Amino acid sequence: MALLQAIDGTKKVSLKDHDPDSTDGIDKEGSRARVEKINAELCELQELLYAAQQTPVLIVLQGMDTSGKDGTITHAMSSMNPQSCRVESFKVPTPLELSHDFLWRVHNVVPGKGSIVIFNRSHYEDVLVVRVHKQIDHDECRRRYDYINNFERLITDSNTIVLKFFLNICKDEQEKRLLEREADPIKAWKLSAADWKEREFWDDYQSAYEDAINHCSKPRAPWYIVPANHKWFRNLAVAETIVHALRPHREEWLQRLSVIGSAALKELRAQRQTH
Ligand code: AMP
Ligand code: MG
Repeated sequence: MALLQAIDGTKKVSLKDHDPDSTDGIDKEGSRARVEKINAELCELQELLYAAQQTPVLIVLQGMDTSGKDGTITHAMSSMNPQSCRVESFKVPTPLELSHDFLWRVHNVVPGKGSIVIFNRSHYEDVLVVRVHKQIDHDECRRRYDYINNFERLITDSNTIVLKFFLNICKDEQEKRLLEREADPIKAWKLSAADWKEREFWDDYQSAYEDAINHCSKPRAPWYIVPANHKWFRNLAVAETIVHALRPHREEWLQRLSVIGSAALKELRAQRQTH
């Protein structure tokens, strides 16, 4: 049984039905063997993906401040080959980015065939933070959901696997993590007064996330709501979901590798005969 259910747009979801504390009945100790197994499979699948050069993979990570986007990336990437995996972080748009449509900076950095790109924040900021701070109105937000759906359809039609994760923490957990940052010199670089300010808009963010998830979930570009109060569970759930999405392509990639291998051998043999 998968740890996370794909939200594919067929049924409306409500965030209050998703418990950020859930660990699906698993405990941390008992999860170790499962984590090891899934990481090994992820490593193998990524190697095949890279070698076969057929499929791009886009992983979107969204969540409130301190929800664990950085930690999830560190964990997910620890079992991947850096040659074919990269992270793109989306910050407040620069003047150049703002002088274009909101998808301009995003489309430019989507993965090509054989590589995995993780978005640390994404085009969804353009229906989240800007909506919460009323920089766009309701109608513009609606139009942007459509642009996002069309954009994601374009890349999935081009064979991209798209997986979108909302790291769901509760408000108390956020407070705990913000306070921990103040106490930990290694986390000091993440300290930001703005995080405490944004926290005041917690409910507005929750509704903005809920709407974005409900308007922009499709079978080929699903959202997953990840219970993220427990970091070990969050990491396991995300890694397993990525593996489940890649696994069905294993045979196709192996076949492709066999075609590439035979063609190269043929060429090599022909070359040896002429020498
Ligand atoms: P961090 O993830 O802590 O590095 O912070 C990045 C900040 O950039 C967050 O406050 C985001 O809300 C903000 N940000 C990212 N994309 C956008 C966007 N399109 N419009 C406005 N703010 C954004
Ligand atoms: Mg931050």
